[in-house]
Parts: sequence; C-alpha cells; structure tokens
Amino acid sequence: MIISGATVVTSLDPVHITRDDVHVKDGRIAAEGGGERHDCSGCLVVPGNVCAHTHLYSALARGMPYDLEPPEDFLQILQRVWWRLDRALDEDSVRASALVGGMEALLSGTTTLVDHHASPNAIDGSLDVIEEALSTLGVRSVLCYEASDRDGPERARAGVQENRRFLDRVRRERPPLARGLVGAHASFTLSDETLSSCAEAAREFEVGIHVHAAEDDADERDAVALYGLRVADRLAQAGALDERTILAHGVHLDREEIRLVRAANASVAHNGRSNMNNSIGRARVGSFGPRVVLGTDGIGSDMFEESRTAYFRLREDDRGIGPDWPLRRLAEGARFVGAAFGEQRLGKIEVGAPADLVVLDYATPAPLHASSFPGHWVFGLASRSVRDVMVAGEWVVLDRRLTRMDDQELAANACVQADRLWKRLDDIGPHEFEPKGGRRWPSPLMIE
Ligand SMILES: [Zn+2]
Repeated sequence: MIISGATVVTSLDPVHITRDDVHVKDGRIAAEGGGERHDCSGCLVVPGNVCAHTHLYSALARGMPYDLEPPEDFLQILQRVWWRLDRALDEDSVRASALVGGMEALLSGTTTLVDHHASPNAIDGSLDVIEEALSTLGVRSVLCYEASDRDGPERARAGVQENRRFLDRVRRERPPLARGLVGAHASFTLSDETLSSCAEAAREFEVGIHVHAAEDDADERDAVALYGLRVADRLAQAGALDERTILAHGVHLDREEIRLVRAANASVAHNGRSNMNNSIGRARVGSFGPRVVLGTDGIGSDMFEESRTAYFRLREDDRGIGPDWPLRRLAEGARFVGAAFGEQRLGKIEVGAPADLVVLDYATPAPLHASSFPGHWVFGLASRSVRDVMVAGEWVVLDRRLTRMDDQELAANACVQADRLWKRLDDIGPHEFEPKGGRRWPSPLMIE
C-alpha cells in the first residue's frame, strides 16, 4: 500500500512534516511497499489519536432520562447516575456500547482507546466482550475492569479476577489490537485488601494500574479519615504507583502528591471536559510534568475536541500555554499505549511504527508547516475532516464510513439496547455507598 499525495505529519512532538509517500507493509510503516496506491492528494495525514481515559459503557447514556433529585456534589452524581447505570449493564449492553463507542472513536480519528470498564452485575468475561467488539471494528485498545468494594467484597474480588483472567488471556493469545492493565476505581471505594490484590496482579502480569485519583476532594478526605494518608501516598504505599500507573483526573492532588506522582514517573490522564461537567475543580495540569495524557472520561472519543477544550481552559488564565501543548499531550498518550504494546514508535508515522493513521480532508486556508501545524490543530482541524482511518495497516474507515461493519445498523442496535438499559434503570435506586471522609474537611488545616 502506498499513501500518496498527502502532507504527512510524521510526529506530533516535535512536529515533523514531510510530503513523501507513506509505504505500509505487514501492518507497519515501511521504507518501500509497492502495491495499491491510495490517493490522498490535498489531504493531511496525521498519527491516529489516542484517548487515554474513557468509559465506553457510558456510550448508551447520552440523553438518558433523570428523575431523581438533582445531585448536589460529585458523590451524588456517582450515586444517582453512574453507579445506577453500571449496575444495569448486561452483556448485550456492554457489547452495544463498545461497538457504538468504538465506531464513534474511529469516525472521529481516534485509533486507540484506553478504557476503564465497570458492570458489577456482569463482570466475568466483560473485558472479552469489549475486546471482541473493538477488534472487530479495528480499534486498538488497552482495557481493564475497575475493581471496587462499593458493591461488596465478592464483587471486589470478581473485579480483580476479571483483570487477571483477561491479562492471562492477553499473555497467552497476544491479540493483535488489545492489551490490558489492572483497573481499580478510586481510593475511596477500595479496601486495603482489594488495593493490594490489584498491586499484586499488576506486578505479576508486569502491567500498570489504571485508577481514578483525587478526582473529587471526597477521595482525599476519605483517604485521610480512614488511613491518615493522602490518595497518592496511599497508592504509593500499596505499591500501586510506578511508571506504568495511569491516574485519572488528579484534580485534588496537593503539591506533595504531585511531587510523588512525578517522582514515580506515573502518567496522569487529564479529562478537561469531564472535570468541567462535574464541577469538581480545575486540575493543575501545568504542574503535573511531562507525563500528562488526555482522556474524555466517556464524553465520546473526539480528541480534536478534547484537546482543544483542554487548551482553551488552560489558556484562559495562562497565556504562556502554546498550541503545541495539546499535541505534546497526545504524543504522550501514544507513548503510554506504545509501552503497553511494546511498540516504541506508536504514534509516529515512521519506518517500523504500527500503521495507525488518519487522513484528513483539510483545505488549508494558510501555509501548513511544522511551526504552523499546532495553530492549525487548535484553531482549525476537527473530526469533521476525518476521511479515512488506518489501524495496524488496515483501512477501518474509508470515505467516512466503517469498512468492517454497517454504521447505521450498529447505531440502530445501540438505540435498542439503550432503550432497554434506560428501562432497567427505573428499578435501580441511588447507590448507598458513602465514603468515610464526610462532606467537609474536619479542620481547615487538613486542606492543603
Ligand atoms: Zn473516569
């Protein structure tokens, strides 16, 4: 396969651009390929986007009815929305959400999803269902099940076991497009026993832990009240904080914790739109260091939109942030996923790299070169320009349509499943789990 005629962004950090043909052979970028020519004249080719933190199970929740009292804080959002939805999930709705979420990812130019899954009444085998759905579409993925004690010790153990079962399968079968992490919900719903089983599984399978950390202040209050430790300290003491760890949000990490996370070389997934949507506060992403990656936390998988919003939110009170900032974050997300796949070049369009790329139909209104590209990314490029998408050397989107499944059929089936899921929600009340830290800090001295 030869991709010809395009302007090719071979690297996002640093930005590098060529006008050479791209050769693809055996799933990788090659020096020479030959064979079929794919005309991309006038197009821009970029590395596939990575969404480094998402929840595909939320794909069927869009516009979901809500009849309870409005939530007053983040905990009530979990109790009244997400922890009802996840208990209503069954195998069919997990599959439908992975398929429709995966479809939207590809159509918006996202080739890799780092997913964090919960379905407390359908735990066993759920990661296989997601893996199969995404692999069928041709989405690359890094999957985990969020172990948690909020639904009792039995489900906590089943959650850890689902991670182990999947990681064992991945180790034996090496599915070409999927890898695993050990998933854990968040400090405030994890007992010491569950947290240490997660750390043990991560050590045994030599993978990272994917966990929400200090998303809301309640997570910190609970850790201090129960263990006398801040969240990052608790994770570190449990052996759950190292260079393979990915922490989601980190909004309420204090300066000491940020130092600890940076010293451990752990990644932090910033989910700007989700943070705003839940009114949980603003992450100090500027102080998190180089290992900040971007996620959507389940608000679709459009990384053009996510990276643009994150940029403007930061820029609102810091003119020092440049438009290259979101590109560096996306490159870092690809590096994280590349480490999980043992593919150092993932996220680049260079010889030897897995051929994950996106063809953008972009009639540039101003000269496009390495120094102007970040400006085009933030002020012009969007998922509406996504024409073709390649993952591991295969076209999975051509002319804005999936190549392996029928878009319309898949969306129609998702609507049927969403309707059933929403009906089941009527019988599920707010979750009763309460963290121990209370609604406020007991003493002002305990706030940083
Ligand atoms: Zn999340």
